Amino acid sequence: MGIEGQLPTFATKFLRLRMSSAKYIFVTGGVTSSLGKGIISASLGKLLQARGFSVTIQKFDPYINIDPGTLNPYEHGECYVTDDGAETDLDLGHYERFLNITTSQANNVTTGRIYNNVITKERKGEYLGKTVQVVPHITDEIKRNIFLLSESGKYDFIITEIGGSVGDIESLPFVEAVRQVRWDLGSNNALVIHLTLIPYLSAAKELKTKPTQHSVKELLSYGIQPDILVCRTEHALSMEIRKKLALFCNVNLNSVIEAIDAETIYDVPMLMRKEKLDERVLAKLKVTPKHEPDLEQWKVFLGKLKNPINEVTIGLVGKYVTLPDAYKSIAEAFIHAGAENDCKVHLKWISSEDIHKDTVKNILGNLDAVLVAPGFGERGLEGKIEAIKFVREHKIPFLGICLGMQCAVVEFARNVLHLADASTTELNPKTKHPVIDMMEEQKKITNKGGTMRLGAYTCKIKKGTKAFHVYGDSIIQERHRHRYEFNNKYLDQIEEAGLKAVGINPDTNLVEIVELKDHPWFIGVQYHPELKSTVLNPHPLFVKFVEAAMIHKKSNS
Ligand code: GLN
Repeated sequence: MGIEGQLPTFATKFLRLRMSSAKYIFVTGGVTSSLGKGIISASLGKLLQARGFSVTIQKFDPYINIDPGTLNPYEHGECYVTDDGAETDLDLGHYERFLNITTSQANNVTTGRIYNNVITKERKGEYLGKTVQVVPHITDEIKRNIFLLSESGKYDFIITEIGGSVGDIESLPFVEAVRQVRWDLGSNNALVIHLTLIPYLSAAKELKTKPTQHSVKELLSYGIQPDILVCRTEHALSMEIRKKLALFCNVNLNSVIEAIDAETIYDVPMLMRKEKLDERVLAKLKVTPKHEPDLEQWKVFLGKLKNPINEVTIGLVGKYVTLPDAYKSIAEAFIHAGAENDCKVHLKWISSEDIHKDTVKNILGNLDAVLVAPGFGERGLEGKIEAIKFVREHKIPFLGICLGMQCAVVEFARNVLHLADASTTELNPKTKHPVIDMMEEQKKITNKGGTMRLGAYTCKIKKGTKAFHVYGDSIIQERHRHRYEFNNKYLDQIEEAGLKAVGINPDTNLVEIVELKDHPWFIGVQYHPELKSTVLNPHPLFVKFVEAAMIHKKSNS
C-alpha cells in the first residue's frame, strides 16, 4: 500500500462533507461465520426504528459473483429479489421482514460488483492514466457504495453489515473501507459493532473468551477498535466474563452485549433491548433518544406466535428441501401468517423427487395443505406435477409459487385437457403442447446473470374471484424471478376447462394468477408473494392459505 493510499482522496473529502447527516453503524463478524449478523443488524435496526428513527440496512458480500443470482441455493440459500429487480442475499429478506421497509440494489453489494465498476471505469479511461489499485480505487468504490444510501437524505441511521469474518482475505478491502469511513466521519458519526462467539466447553463447563480476544486483536491490526461487542453464546455471560471481555478487548463494560441463543429470531430485538444495545449505540453516536422504543405491535405478534390456538401441517414440496435456507422467505411467511391466524404451522419438507404415483398418497394424504415451491431445471419436476394432481383431485388446499404455478398448468393440461405430452419447455423443449414457454425476448438472451424477468410488476385481479377476495384489491404489485410464462395460446382452452387466469399483467397480458373452479382453495401465482411478507404485514395469500388449511383440517376431523 503506497502512502497516497492512506490519504483521503478528493472524492472521500467531498463525500465527508455531503454525507454527514446519517449516522453509520458497521457490523463485522469474528471467530466463525453463521453467527447471525443479519439478525443482529435487523434487530438493532428494529429498535432504532421503534424509537422513531428512519433506518436502512445494507450488506456487503465479499464474493466475486456480481450478485447471488447465479448461485445454486445449496451454496448460499435463497436468492432474495427486491422491488427494483436486484437479485440479493437472503439477509435483505430479514431486513425487510423486521423493519417493514423495501430495499433495493443499493442495499447489497458484492466484491464482484465493486471490481466490475472499477474495471469498467478503467476501460473508459476515467482514471486518467493512474495505476488502478485496491487502495484507494477499490476502497473508494466501496465507500461510494456505503454512502450511496445516504444521498436521499431520508435515513437517520444506515447499518452496514460486512459479510464473512474478520481475517478472511476477501473481506480486507471492506474492513479497510470501514476504517477510512470512521476516520472520515469521526466517532460521533460512525461506530463498529463486532459480533463474535463465546464458545462453551462442556467438559470444562466454561465459557471461553480467548477466540473473541484474538478476533478483536485481528480487527485492531487493521486499525479498527470495535465500539461494541455482541457476543453469541449458549449460556448467560457472568459479570466476571463480561469484565474479562471488556478489559482484554478494550471496550466499556456496558458495551459487552450478550446475544444468547433465542427460541425464534423474532425474539432477538427484545433480547437486544434487554441488553440495551440500542441505548449504547445512541450514547456512542451522541444521539438524543426521541422516545423509548415502541414495540407494542411486535409484542402482539410474539404473543400470537408463542400461544397458538390451532395447528396445521402444510407440505412444502421442493427440490432443495435438505437446506431450508433455500426457502427462507416462504418459511418466514408461514410464521407471519400462522401468528396472524393464531395457528402453529408445521412445515413438512418434502423432496419432489420422492413423489410418484405409488408414494403420493402416503406422503401427501394426511396434510392440511400443500405448497409447491419455486425452482429451476427439470429435476424433481414430475414429482411436483404428481403432487398437484393429487391435491387437485382430493381437494386439498394448494398454493403454487412460480414453478409451482407452472406445474399446476402443466398438470391441468395433461390430466384435464388430456394433452398427453403437455409440458413446460424448461422440462421438454420439444413438447407438442408448450403450455408454459419462454417469452420471445428471453430466447435471445445468452447471459445467465440478471437476465430473468425480475422485480415488481403490476397485476390486475378480476373481481369476484378467490384471489380478489384474498387481496381485497384489484391492482397489486408483486415480485418476479423467472424466464418461462403461461402460454396464452392455450388460455381459452384451459379456462374453459375450469382453470381460470384471474390475475393478468395489464401491460403485457402475461398470466400472473390462476385458480381452479370447484376446488376449495387452489391458487397458482407466477410471482413470489413470500418476498413481501413482513412481521407487521403478513402476506394475504399466506394468511388465507393457512386459513384454508385450518378449514380443511376441521372438515376432515
Ligand atoms: N424455472 C421457472 C422459470 O424460470 C420458474 C422459476 C421460479 O420458480 N422462480 O420460469
